[in-house]
Amino acid sequence: MGFDLDEDQKQLRDLAHDFAEKEIRPKAPFHDETGDWPKELLHKAYDLGLVNVHIPAEYGGLGLGALNGCILEEEMGWGCTGIATAITANSLAQAPVILAGSTEQKKKWLTPFSSEHLISAYAVTEPGAGSDVAAIQTTAVRKGDKYVLNGQKMWITGAGHANWFFVLAKTDKEAGHKGMSAFVVPRDVKGLSVGKKENNMGQRASDTRGMAFEDVEIDAANLLGKEGDGFVIAMKAFDHTRPLVAAAGVGLARAAMENAVLYAAERKAFGRPIWQHEGVGFMIADMASDIEAARLLTWKAAHQIDNNKRNTLNAAYAKRFTADMAMRVAIDAVQVFGGNGFNKEYPAEKLMRDAKIFQIYEGTSQIQRVIIARELFAK
Ligand SMILES: Cc1cc2nc3c(=O)[nH]c(=O)nc-3n(C[C@H](O)[C@H](O)[C@H](O)COP(=O)(O)OP(=O)(O)OC[C@H]3O[C@@H](n4cnc5c(N)ncnc54)[C@H](O)[C@@H]3O)c2cc1C
Repeated sequence: MGFDLDEDQKQLRDLAHDFAEKEIRPKAPFHDETGDWPKELLHKAYDLGLVNVHIPAEYGGLGLGALNGCILEEEMGWGCTGIATAITANSLAQAPVILAGSTEQKKKWLTPFSSEHLISAYAVTEPGAGSDVAAIQTTAVRKGDKYVLNGQKMWITGAGHANWFFVLAKTDKEAGHKGMSAFVVPRDVKGLSVGKKENNMGQRASDTRGMAFEDVEIDAANLLGKEGDGFVIAMKAFDHTRPLVAAAGVGLARAAMENAVLYAAERKAFGRPIWQHEGVGFMIADMASDIEAARLLTWKAAHQIDNNKRNTLNAAYAKRFTADMAMRVAIDAVQVFGGNGFNKEYPAEKLMRDAKIFQIYEGTSQIQRVIIARELFAK
């Protein structure tokens, strides 16, 4: 067992760090202020090979593996998690195709990403069903060699720009989660509409929207796996993407801590730098040790994927711990900055707003605990 990165991983990290420092950070305040989707930055990240890194080599991707993906993601999250989420949203939609698609489906839906900067989005949540995925209402009815979809989705990251969507729908309304099926839905189908960009508290560079399906016809060949496999496919995808989300949270917390350290070394109160007051110094000590712990949990969950081990429990550990840790660290960073922490001229308040979503998307912190308890008691 080793904890050190090899030379290739260090190069990967440095490439992503450089991009985060020179490209993401200077533009992050503009995208946070305006909510403008960072199209140019996404193109640059694509040209540098920082997007779609997990698509297997036989389908035109880099096939970098989960741990390497996390190393990249931490650096981009350090730059700005709103922009990192916009860059990485593809991964969540592609994961079900990588995990459950046939060779033809993988060729059709994944290979084009190697020659063009395309966007894909993961559409599971609905206005009436988020944590309780089995309660979704969108239906898909088989008609000959087509499926006809009706329903609504909500909070879909990248929906405004996606070329195709991973969609979960009910093919049997009476069968609970066993009645759910997974589809790839191209954007340009008749009856599919996408709503306005949501005006969110944080990660404002990322695009989230509602969607509606009104008698949307898609080829039956777009069904992933068999009818009834959808729930399991969607959940397995989360096992693969939660470590990535956790890695972005580690990056955010690192950024908050670094800002707190710089500020606490400069700012004086009662005749000395504030970090020398135990109340402040200990807050920063906790930040540093929690970040280290979160990274190790994240890397372990990713390492399990790379070694073909089931990682449901570790992915939930990593997502839960990191989300709650990033929120705590960001709040404490605001505290270290005092009044300046409450002001938009300083970096801490944006980090605090951006951190909150880690406790909500890809399964809330409560749902991660539900998964952890269920896994433990199943044993
Ligand atoms: C910015 C953003 C981006 C998103 N991107 C996507 C995306 O790309 N694709 C997608 O499909 N979805 C996406 N989501 C949706 C996200 O995954 C859901 O918001 C999340 O799963 C919570 O669902 P909900 O909002 O319906 O809350 P609810 O499920 O209504 O939960 C409300 C509260 O109740 C708690 N709760 C619910 N059930 C339990 C329980 N059993 N035990 C304890 N507490 C419980 C929750 O933890 C939460 O605190 C996104 C959301 C946001 C805000």
